[in-house]
Amino acid sequence: MDILYKSTRGEGGEVTASQAILQGLAADGGLFVPAAFPKLEVTMEQLSKMNYQEIAYEVMRLFFTDFTEEELKRCINCAYDSKFDTEEIAPMVKAGGAYYLELFHGATIAFKDMALSILPHLMTTSAKKNQSEEDIVILTATSGDTGKAALAGFADVPGTKIIVFYPKNGVSMIQEKQMVTQRGDNTCVIGITGNFDDAQTGVKNMFGNTELKERLLSKGYRFSSANSINIGRLIPQVAYYVYAYANLLKEGEIADGETINVVVPTGNFGNILAAYYAKKLGTPIGRLICASNENKVLYDFFRTGTYDRNREFMLTNSPSMDILISSNLERLIYHIADNQASVNAAMMHDLKTKGVYTITDAMRAQLGDFLGGTASQVQTGEAIAALYEQTGYVLDTHTAVASYVYNRYRQESGDETKTVIASTASPFKFARSVMEAIDKNNAVYSDMELIDRLSATANVAVPQAIEDVRTAPVRHNTVCETEDMQKQVEKILAL
Ligand SMILES: *Cc1c(COP(=O)(O)O)cnc(C)c1O
Repeated sequence: MDILYKSTRGEGGEVTASQAILQGLAADGGLFVPAAFPKLEVTMEQLSKMNYQEIAYEVMRLFFTDFTEEELKRCINCAYDSKFDTEEIAPMVKAGGAYYLELFHGATIAFKDMALSILPHLMTTSAKKNQSEEDIVILTATSGDTGKAALAGFADVPGTKIIVFYPKNGVSMIQEKQMVTQRGDNTCVIGITGNFDDAQTGVKNMFGNTELKERLLSKGYRFSSANSINIGRLIPQVAYYVYAYANLLKEGEIADGETINVVVPTGNFGNILAAYYAKKLGTPIGRLICASNENKVLYDFFRTGTYDRNREFMLTNSPSMDILISSNLERLIYHIADNQASVNAAMMHDLKTKGVYTITDAMRAQLGDFLGGTASQVQTGEAIAALYEQTGYVLDTHTAVASYVYNRYRQESGDETKTVIASTASPFKFARSVMEAIDKNNAVYSDMELIDRLSATANVAVPQAIEDVRTAPVRHNTVCETEDMQKQVEKILAL
């Protein structure tokens, strides 16, 4: 079956996977979605005997149907290699009655590596397939982790440039250091005075600016996106949920066909949407539990059916989830509106103009598998301390939001279904918040001292990604006002 892609806002026809990857965002401002959902063509029993790369192939070939077997396997093998510090790629740790799927063993120690280590290969292959002559300019907004993972993926890739915007005062010290020390002649990193939503809106506006697009083309460039609005980022994430299930089966933790629940610490709604896609492929997933921090716009949405971004933006100790406009929710809205683009487009128009929309009862009825939960910063710290005291296992702050939400759900519902928690970052990326949660006396130490103390506490070696930034020189120091993002891009590209 050939899978084609169309915009969630309905204008324009269907495009192939490679065209959708190249474009990033549809011309009408919508997101590309598969026009039909495939089903896994191998059994879980067969998948349980495969390694990560083989499972990734079985998943991605269903969606990227215009790639040849040779092309897709080459992309997969270039992505999931020794950049990861374990051959398992995504190991699973059982602790405190749940299974933590560790998605942070790639080059930049956050789950963004799972997709961004393959996206540059998918994109350059897509450019070749479509005889695209232009250089690709990746415009990226980051809440902290996407930026570094995208920079690492695209650095020095021929035919590409990458420009990353991050909220100057909204990321952790390590996140910022990782980005501003990035090497590669084709990389640019810019702090903005606004928050992540401002950065994402600024980038989306540039994508939608036809005049700018014309000027770009005349200089031999075209924009694309490394954010999870790009289908080429979303689909590789589906693979690890299938892998998680197959792995539980292999280890004898579940019986074939047994339903599992999934809990995902959520910001832009990409990761949990990938779990939903894995379920649609036929993976026996029951509940999809969406865990939010104090920016709990999604928690309120799942409770009430109203999405309302008119509220104060909070800076929390899980900064990669400090988001009020969760872009990928648009894909879910489209699917639960029975793929009616006009219904989705009207709601997205309300979101843009009024900051709020309400879904219909019929749409709500289709959200049965989803459940929202939220954890305050204090509860997040308590979750880290509690699991550490109980098991010695140390979580990062984002995963701890999910851990808190899971434990609360389990207590309140009595649901003992085996549960996979997406573990989205290494605790080393957020060492200060993590160490102060475990012992408030850690507040007196410097950030770098806390790295070593965390290593001793968790009994885990300091990851290479952290060693790399300890001494690396700063290479990027531009900061701009939110309004000036486009000016910066024009300057960099000499438009
Ligand atoms: C990006 C990120 C998230 C949120 O993921 P979404 O796909 O945007 O919902 C959660 N935790 C960490 C560590 C992240 O980097």
